[in-house]
Amino acid sequence: MYFAGIDIGGMSIKIGLVSSEGKLIVSRAIPTNHDLGYEDMIRRSSELISELCKEANISTSKIKGIGVGIPGTADSSTGIATSAVNIGWKNTPVSEEFSKYFDVPIIISNDANCAALGEQKFGSGAGYQNLIFITLGTGVGSGIIIDGKLVEGVSCAGAESGHMVIQVDGELCNCGRCGCWECYASATALIKQTKAAMQANPYSKLHAVGRKYGKVTGRTAFLAAQDGDDVAQSVVDKYIKYIATGLINLANIIHPEAFIIGGGISHEGDYLMKPLQQFMDNNFFASGMYPTVKTICATLGNNAGIIGAAALVM
Ligand SMILES: [Zn+2]
Repeated sequence: MYFAGIDIGGMSIKIGLVSSEGKLIVSRAIPTNHDLGYEDMIRRSSELISELCKEANISTSKIKGIGVGIPGTADSSTGIATSAVNIGWKNTPVSEEFSKYFDVPIIISNDANCAALGEQKFGSGAGYQNLIFITLGTGVGSGIIIDGKLVEGVSCAGAESGHMVIQVDGELCNCGRCGCWECYASATALIKQTKAAMQANPYSKLHAVGRKYGKVTGRTAFLAAQDGDDVAQSVVDKYIKYIATGLINLANIIHPEAFIIGGGISHEGDYLMKPLQQFMDNNFFASGMYPTVKTICATLGNNAGIIGAAALVM
């Protein structure tokens, strides 16, 4: 038995065939080209599934379901993508359109929810029934799993931890509120914080690192800090405190067994994870009473979306 996992992004649609053990057999990406309309995107995606089947020598009859991760709000009970601004979708009947090509169960969900499920079933969250997946990228995405099940909320518009306010009257967020967690803890925010520190500190090693790599990225502050730069270290320390603040808020509400941290920033490994764990151990409300909430790096990387989407229909 195989399952097709589709990870739709603003630039590309990644599609893969996944075995029931969570092994990615074959995958490929095509441009999103959302301006051509959702029918065209879904037709091209369906054709690619058939091509991948041929390539992997798998009969299409062995594809037992299609899971679709959507960069926005997706109602898994109706199969309708309520809103996905990046790809111009609004009340888009995703499952219905896919069913024109494949007569199998088709389930959609938000992309971070899919990644959470992928990590829980086949990644670093394996064995945990209660976890929260956080992705630190352009924004802060999250997926919550309680008792082994995704918690999507009424109409599946919940689990948007990135829009939890951690600073009243703080920075203006894309969502319209001020002070959202993602305005402080995303890679985008870290780049902004790094640039501000550079402007205030013309002799910091941040400048040399920025020049070496041609631009300021989410890595710049981490690299300069590892090179002994105090300014960079204070940027990193503050940034990690922002991430930790949101994690501890969530831990105090949900008390999961673990947080799985994904997204580009998670590649910093121990430089990120060790202090995060320390913050958690020292500040979680029930620390001392119960085993600590673990903070763990995601392991599925770029494939989490595909594998997680496939896991929706397993
Ligand atoms: Zn927001």
